[in-house]
Amino acid sequence: MIRKIAFALALMVPTFGFTAELDLRPIARGELIVSPADQLIRPQARRAGNVALVPVVAERLRPKLRPYERPELAKGAETLPLLRAEKGLFAFSPTAPAISLGPQARSAAFVQAMADRQAAIIQGQVCSDPAIQGDAIGTVEGRGQCGIDNAVRIRSVAGVQLKPAARMDCQTAGALKNWVTNGVQPATDDQAASLRVVSGYSCRFRNSQASGRLSEHSFGRAIDIAGIGLKDGREITVLTGWNSARDGASLRQMWRAACNVFGTVLGPDSNRFHRDHFHFDTARYRSGSYCR
Ligand SMILES: [Zn+2]
Repeated sequence: MIRKIAFALALMVPTFGFTAELDLRPIARGELIVSPADQLIRPQARRAGNVALVPVVAERLRPKLRPYERPELAKGAETLPLLRAEKGLFAFSPTAPAISLGPQARSAAFVQAMADRQAAIIQGQVCSDPAIQGDAIGTVEGRGQCGIDNAVRIRSVAGVQLKPAARMDCQTAGALKNWVTNGVQPATDDQAASLRVVSGYSCRFRNSQASGRLSEHSFGRAIDIAGIGLKDGREITVLTGWNSARDGASLRQMWRAACNVFGTVLGPDSNRFHRDHFHFDTARYRSGSYCR
């Protein structure tokens, strides 16, 4: 800015008949102002009938050229006693913290506890995801076409327990984790603690009928959930909650979220077999998710 002004003044000077009389170099920060020319930081008013520049800079402008000094604590306390805090320290603004806490060193016991916890999480993870906890159980052999390759028994997803633990493949476990994170927790204000699982792997026909097509449960690609346990001990159940004023909206929110995650989503509105549970599976259809 100062350079620009000096340059502009330099252009004006010949017009006014001035030459080298004014030394218009930029004023460096911290430099003492020693000559009136040095003080010339902006165009001055012309005198009436005279084109002489008036190299006057008010003394009050000087502080604007350099950082203000901060008041010493003791003086500030006298002049700006806005907030009196503990231990005789003072803040200079009502909104400033009077005492700024520096980082505290963590105790060795705390660091060890965190390291142990991290190790346990890594040890308990399956499907290469620390948020999916369980055991890898290898191949599950079933009758006929039933069975799971690379099966896992899942104890929890995203910190929410499966009651009881359920067998499935990793794709289904990952979908379940996404559903809990993006569907269940948002619908319960992050209060979900457990899922009541009524079926995981199970070699059977669809809808538990005596014949028909094999259910996705037969391949570890499906899970049935009848209730969501909350941290306060209450359970939202599909059977009683779906049409209730209290839980109907959150259950529908969860159901809708599942449609973004699973291949098939069946709830109480789909058919009489699902009035008391959600059925989710990771079967893939060319037409996209089947959501009822
Ligand atoms: Zn099912």
